[in-house]
Amino acid sequence: MSLSTKISIVFGAIAVCLVSMLVVINLYAFRSFSINASTEHIRTAAEIVRVHLTEAMINGVIDKRESFLTRLMEVQGLSSARVIRGPQVVKQFGPGLGGRETAFDTIEESVLQNGQPQYEVIESDDGTTFRGTIPFVATARGTPNCLQCHEVPEGAVLGAVTMSMSVDNLKFQAVITVFAIVGIVMVFSSLAFFVIRRMIRPVTATAQNVEEAVQRALRGDFKAVVRKTTNDELGQIATDMNRLLVFLDAGLTRIGKNVAHLTNRTTSSDDNLLEATIDMVDGLTRAAHFKQAIEEDETKSEIHHRLAEVMREEFQLQEYSLYEIIQNKNQMVPVYVDGEAEGACRWCDPQIMVRSEACRARRTGHPVDGISNPGICYAFKAGDHNNDRVHVCLPIMQSGAVGNVLQLVARPEDEEDLRSKIPLINVYLRETAPVLETKRLMDSLRESSLRDPMTGLNNRRFLEEYVETLVANSQRNQMGLTVMMLDLDHFKMVNDTYGHDAGDAVLKSLAKVLRQAVRASDMVIRYGGEEFMIILVNTVGDPADQVAEKIRASVEAMETHVGATTLRKTISIGVADFPSDSDTFWQAVKFADVALYQAKESGRNRVVRFVSDMWQNKKEY
Ligand code: GH3
Ligand code: MG
Ligand code: MG
Repeated sequence: MSLSTKISIVFGAIAVCLVSMLVVINLYAFRSFSINASTEHIRTAAEIVRVHLTEAMINGVIDKRESFLTRLMEVQGLSSARVIRGPQVVKQFGPGLGGRETAFDTIEESVLQNGQPQYEVIESDDGTTFRGTIPFVATARGTPNCLQCHEVPEGAVLGAVTMSMSVDNLKFQAVITVFAIVGIVMVFSSLAFFVIRRMIRPVTATAQNVEEAVQRALRGDFKAVVRKTTNDELGQIATDMNRLLVFLDAGLTRIGKNVAHLTNRTTSSDDNLLEATIDMVDGLTRAAHFKQAIEEDETKSEIHHRLAEVMREEFQLQEYSLYEIIQNKNQMVPVYVDGEAEGACRWCDPQIMVRSEACRARRTGHPVDGISNPGICYAFKAGDHNNDRVHVCLPIMQSGAVGNVLQLVARPEDEEDLRSKIPLINVYLRETAPVLETKRLMDSLRESSLRDPMTGLNNRRFLEEYVETLVANSQRNQMGLTVMMLDLDHFKMVNDTYGHDAGDAVLKSLAKVLRQAVRASDMVIRYGGEEFMIILVNTVGDPADQVAEKIRASVEAMETHVGATTLRKTISIGVADFPSDSDTFWQAVKFADVALYQAKESGRNRVVRFVSDMWQNKKEY
């Protein structure tokens, strides 16, 4: 209900109550006034009758009393006047005027009996009449006094006079007055109502304007203007409201633009600016939390896992692939597919795994929009769902190259939904890229610190870090290890004769030969200068000796071409088993070294297996 209607109703109710109260009070006052005035009138007339009757008795004209009463009625405006004789007067002077002066009804009888006047209002078809019966009580005061003629005691009721008069006139006046009052009140009420309505019109208009402006603001539109109709407090409300709207509009537009810029999202004019901004700020806040979380993650796979969780929980995407590009190898591997870690390549031709250029996003470093351009990437293969899916591929750049590719897949009916999610997904990817880049750099730094750059073999530091895992695995699987120490024979001579580069070339060739001579699960380590170590996993005893012999023979057959010269070198190998020869791994290394010493001592280019005597003898030196 509007304010104006409410005020009208309240005002109307007050006016009705006021009029009703005035009518009731007036009617009551008129009634009281009429009764009092009529009572007084009848009492006065009764007094005149009493004086006249006394005078008539003294003058002996008491018989003329009826004509007196008739005249009195005319003069006093009475409708009836009648004298009644009390019982003692009747007893002394007879009933008088043929019995017409005796009590007619109970009222007259009771007045004659108790000497108290009685009045009543009589309603009849002819109108309203006021009737009063006034007693004449014998008194001994005055000259002449009653007791001089009447043989009655003082205080006896001699008689009474009953008079009636019409109060229709008074009633009519009352009604006229009431109507006049009602009319005046109505006129003034209407006038007041009109004035009040005029006064509250600016209030309701401003309230309506403010209400509309607030409603528009709730819909995200702050362009409403509240009309200023007065120069008082209402006008101030309108001015302040307009200032607030302008302030909110400018502030939110600025925030919205900045946030949209951060998310690369454009807000359409249909959007609720406030809701869209809140959404975007929420998204950015969650992305900031995500960044904080991944920065504290230890490995790349933890980050991949978190990104997969975001796809599922934040974006409700079930179908997607996250690929990692293996730098320098032209390969890419799926690290998360449809929420599965290391899942199979599902939404692309598997050839991208071995030939990463086949992936358009990887090759160009640009997003690939398969929604706007279906068929843009020939590698997009969704198996049975091929015609039933659209895709968008987003590259994640690291160190200026594509480090990962996130492929998003959707049914055609969900493509708009997917498109709307991409700006915020890009924010996540933007946060992820530098963190993944740092992790990748740290991984390669660590990798290079554990690898010898010249031969590409793991170095001694790697062995020191890895040995604990190696021994634990060997003990858990109850598989022995064979430790071989290898040292080129007379290598110094190569450097001295052909130069350091020739020596390096020999070392590189040797590394290759050693790597090829053992299984992938075995370890080849450049232990120092021209000393190498090979650890055979799950091969001990004779088979290990045979491997050592094979290595020795391969090195003997190895040719290194340096310019026009072909170099041939031999190698000496010491072999020890762990744990059969020693309690600790490092002791087995020492034993292998002792055996190597023996190989050198006994003429080089040979394999010597450690026996405990060698250790005894060594101690004796
Ligand atoms: P032996 O048969 O007793 O092992 O004789 P050797 O000459 O191989 O032994 P020695 O320990 O005296 O010489 C090892 C040489 O290996 C000394 C060093 O100059 C050379 N060397 C070590 N590391 C490298 C390297 O990275 N490149 C080159 N070119 N030479 C290296
Ligand atoms: Mg040496
Ligand atoms: Mg040597």
